[in-house]
Amino acid sequence: MLCPDCKGEKEIKIFPKLTKQGKVICTLPCDRCKQTGKVPNQMAEWIKLGSYLREQRRKAKLTLRDFAKKVGVSELLLSNAERGIIDPMEFANVVFDNIAKKG
Ligand SMILES: [Zn+2]
Repeated sequence: MLCPDCKGEKEIKIFPKLTKQGKVICTLPCDRCKQTGKVPNQMAEWIKLGSYLREQRRKAKLTLRDFAKKVGVSELLLSNAERGIIDPMEFANVVFDNIAKKG
């Protein structure tokens, strides 16, 4: 499917910067699709699950850092799961493993 972040443009436009030449639109290489403009079809599902994960974490009033620390994962991994960059179900498996190891 088409990358939901860059809409297939392979780069993300960020806020215009004001320079002597006037307004300049800055672009950043798209992180989600790694500049291919496309993502795996199941990513739509990952994004849904990931935003649910984020919602639940916010309801619990936990910051990204707090939650990552509690379940023994890196903030980057958690953030990627919440943004649907990785499969949130895989992430859940890691979390349950970590909790099981703690005893
Ligand atoms: Zn993209």
